[in-house]
Amino acid sequence: MQKKVIVIGAGISGLTAAFYIKKLAKDVSVTLLEASDRLGGKIKTVRKSGFTIECGPEGYMARKPALTELIREVGLGDQLVNSKSGSYSIYVNHRLRPMPKGSVMGIPTKLLPMVTTGLISPLGKIRAAMDLVLPRVYQNKDMSLAEFFGRRLGHEVITNMIAPLLSGIYNGDLADMSLEATLPQFAGIEKKHRSLILGMKHIQPPKQVGVSKKKAGQLLSLSCGMDVLVEKLADAIDDIRLNAPVRHVQTGRVEMEDGTVLKADAIIVAAAPKQLGPLLDFPEAWALSHDKRTSTATVALAFKKKDIAAVAGSTGFVVSKKEGLSITACSWMNHKWANAAPDDCTLVRSYIGTETDPKMAEETDEAIVNKVLFDLRKIIEVGTPLFSVVTRQMDNMPQYTVGHNQRVQEFEAALGKISGVYACGAILHGVGVPDCVDNAKRAAEQAVAALTE
Ligand SMILES: Cc1cc2nc3c(=O)[nH]c(=O)nc-3n(C[C@H](O)[C@H](O)[C@H](O)COP(=O)(O)OP(=O)(O)OC[C@H]3O[C@@H](n4cnc5c(N)ncnc54)[C@H](O)[C@@H]3O)c2cc1C
Repeated sequence: MQKKVIVIGAGISGLTAAFYIKKLAKDVSVTLLEASDRLGGKIKTVRKSGFTIECGPEGYMARKPALTELIREVGLGDQLVNSKSGSYSIYVNHRLRPMPKGSVMGIPTKLLPMVTTGLISPLGKIRAAMDLVLPRVYQNKDMSLAEFFGRRLGHEVITNMIAPLLSGIYNGDLADMSLEATLPQFAGIEKKHRSLILGMKHIQPPKQVGVSKKKAGQLLSLSCGMDVLVEKLADAIDDIRLNAPVRHVQTGRVEMEDGTVLKADAIIVAAAPKQLGPLLDFPEAWALSHDKRTSTATVALAFKKKDIAAVAGSTGFVVSKKEGLSITACSWMNHKWANAAPDDCTLVRSYIGTETDPKMAEETDEAIVNKVLFDLRKIIEVGTPLFSVVTRQMDNMPQYTVGHNQRVQEFEAALGKISGVYACGAILHGVGVPDCVDNAKRAAEQAVAALTE
């Protein structure tokens, strides 16, 4: 009899898992169940008046190969594009200042640009330079990013350089973000070289099969829009059901919200972070569901070029928390991606939603756009946008807090005892799309191996 697999959640994780099941075991039937009325989860592309607006992920780190491989496997290799080069600025002390040259994730690696930057006071610079002589901080026990970088480089570097950048990327708070789960490479550098500044000089971007050296380490995206990947993956799946929320999962059995029960030989859970507990209902799954999540709104603003100033030499800026603005970061998308806007236009993407004001993302589109414009006008000259697109992620941004890896390990050990049930998704091994793809592919391989045993 034909074997049947059910995948729950049609974000990139669920779609990838379903795709690889079909690829690895053609005669297995795959049903993909999605709670909402659309595919893609956080991936959403809006095309309007010649603009291509990514409302979720816009690109990904080229050095992580899983997504590039998947893109090539679905036949979109010719659509891969590199971001245009450019640096970021930081809005701090009411001024935009360039990130010092050689900074990686806001962490200084070169002394001269650090000595000359206006981002840090002379005292802050002396404190940061103490990294060169301080003993190791990380002792094989997870700690927060604030503690790790604070003890190595001092609080001014954190507040004015590292936190704005990392909070922008992860929508989180360094005070509880896990070093081991979020930036393990820095724990590794410290372990090997003791000083971060000295150790970072030895770091070479990992080599990547099929991507030229020049391209590695940069951002990649799809010129056709990220949603085309979603469509291509969906084409490979036998049966996709939208508006199909799942309530509970057990070996061989999926219970839908409406009470219907579906049978399957294997089940892959790739749903939203808060769903692991309710769906699987064992303590280690609840522990992940109870972990912190944040809300954010992404605001795309389309302008005629003449109606908004550019940030000189930068593709955008991040904002230090102490400035008290609603926006946390802002990108000139057409400075990064050729397809983002018509030639005479600019597409600006801002993020709002901080831990200090989590309700902000719940406000109306109009109120959110006005807040963004109000903040932008404090920083640069801004006229009236042609239109705006607001996208919210309510209570849906997983945060890897201290101890995350341990919780994931315990979850996977417990899940391993439930026959025929697997899990993947941004809650587990990385929130970047390549991490989700890698994790989903592994879940599919495990399921197929068990089915064909
Ligand atoms: C604004 C923004 C910008 C980002 N930028 C980048 C970037 O540039 N690069 C990058 O690499 N990453 C980026 N990310 C992160 C990345 O997009 C996500 O981590 C990734 O897309 C998550 O995919 P996922 O499939 O695990 O989860 P999701 O996309 O959240 O999908 C989960 C799916 O499960 C469904 N679901 C939930 N519960 C149930 C249920 N009970 N039954 C059935 N279905 C259910 C949901 O409706 C949803 O469709 C960004 C994220 C956001 C929000």
